[in-house]
Amino acid sequence: MLQPAELSLEEMGDLADVIPAADPEVKLTYRPIPEFGQAPRRSLIPVCEPTLGGNEMKYVQQAIETNWISSAGRFIRDFEARFAELCGVQYGIACANGTVAMHLAMATLGLEAGDEVIIPTFTMIATANAVTYCGAKPVLVDMEPDYWQMDLNQVEAKITPRTKAIVPVHIYGHPTDMDALMALAEKHGLMVIEDAAEAHGAEYKGRRTGGLGHAAGFSFYGNKIITTGEGGMVTTNDRTLAQLAWNLRDHAFSHERHFWHKFVGFNYRMTNLQAAVGLAQVEQLDGFVAARRRNAAEYNCRLYGIPGIRTPAEAPWAKNVYWMYGIMVDETEYGMSRDALRRVLADHGIETRTFFIPMHCQPVYWQQFKGERYPVAENLCKRGFYLPSASSLSLDEIEYVAGVIRKAAQP
Ligand SMILES: *Cc1c(COP(=O)(O)O)cnc(C)c1O
Repeated sequence: MLQPAELSLEEMGDLADVIPAADPEVKLTYRPIPEFGQAPRRSLIPVCEPTLGGNEMKYVQQAIETNWISSAGRFIRDFEARFAELCGVQYGIACANGTVAMHLAMATLGLEAGDEVIIPTFTMIATANAVTYCGAKPVLVDMEPDYWQMDLNQVEAKITPRTKAIVPVHIYGHPTDMDALMALAEKHGLMVIEDAAEAHGAEYKGRRTGGLGHAAGFSFYGNKIITTGEGGMVTTNDRTLAQLAWNLRDHAFSHERHFWHKFVGFNYRMTNLQAAVGLAQVEQLDGFVAARRRNAAEYNCRLYGIPGIRTPAEAPWAKNVYWMYGIMVDETEYGMSRDALRRVLADHGIETRTFFIPMHCQPVYWQQFKGERYPVAENLCKRGFYLPSASSLSLDEIEYVAGVIRKAAQP
């Protein structure tokens, strides 16, 4: 039977310091609503929630009325085409979720046991797992401290004869410095697969994420900038790669005859019902991105100057879409630890989430990366968390959240 990887905090030594306390319980509170005539409302501000304000219902109804609810149908094709166009690429391959989008993209590379794929240690576990599913080995690098993206200065030192690909992750909606990364990849003949699960609509030097590497994977999970409930997409300009991905998504049925297979394929299909929601969501992407950027601007000015609170940055060459609005707390300057501040916010009905726990600190990857240290990622994990970030967040909610943070600061 499968046994869980056990890792005690004692075994972690001083790395145990970076592991966050358990999530505090978020209390329902009465929050004053400033609009005239409205009584205070019992409320809780979630860290994120979907915004389903467009044609979602209409398209889902069409899918049902026309009897196309499985994985063929017009919404799949329309969603793929529309999303690919938005990313500025030729091909979009819809699939079941973001994790399998990353697996599908990597599977097209034909990785073998012992091959290595370079990823940032500070990411969501699916990035590392997708490499592991391919039988390859994730190789870690640290982050740069300014924009919290993969530190490209550390990538070259990790390249070996077994390295096959690099997977930059556009963390929290800020793009990685892709020109530098692509130059490095070209020099060493490596493939680049963007993990763009958090970066729908983000731009690098005016070009959209999803079209900056050889292929990319997106997620449409409920908390992502656009959602299909569960869903994902591979995007690429490479026709061969796209055709392989379409084929592998659908059990790798061969074109010559049905039930004739030349690859170990997968069932990673998306349904027409999900794609119906997806098409309606894509139609609203520009509005969602504008809302996310407005949230960030409003938080930035309200949190400005609070000692010990660091707000997220945007590189001059970047359009950050602020999937999550993350801040860092310096305990000495702010007068309270990150975990203590999260408890204060929770008591005020504000849900927050700590930053990712790096891959080298995970029980499941502990043996693999034993002894490796990545101080920037560790610092992010120790001090970072994100505030409510949904596209539907109101100004009044932002004002309230920032007010609680300002008031809790020790003079
Ligand atoms: C959300 C996310 C994924 C996984 O997406 P799912 O749809 O939940 O499978 C992968 N990578 C990153 C960076 C993510 O944030």
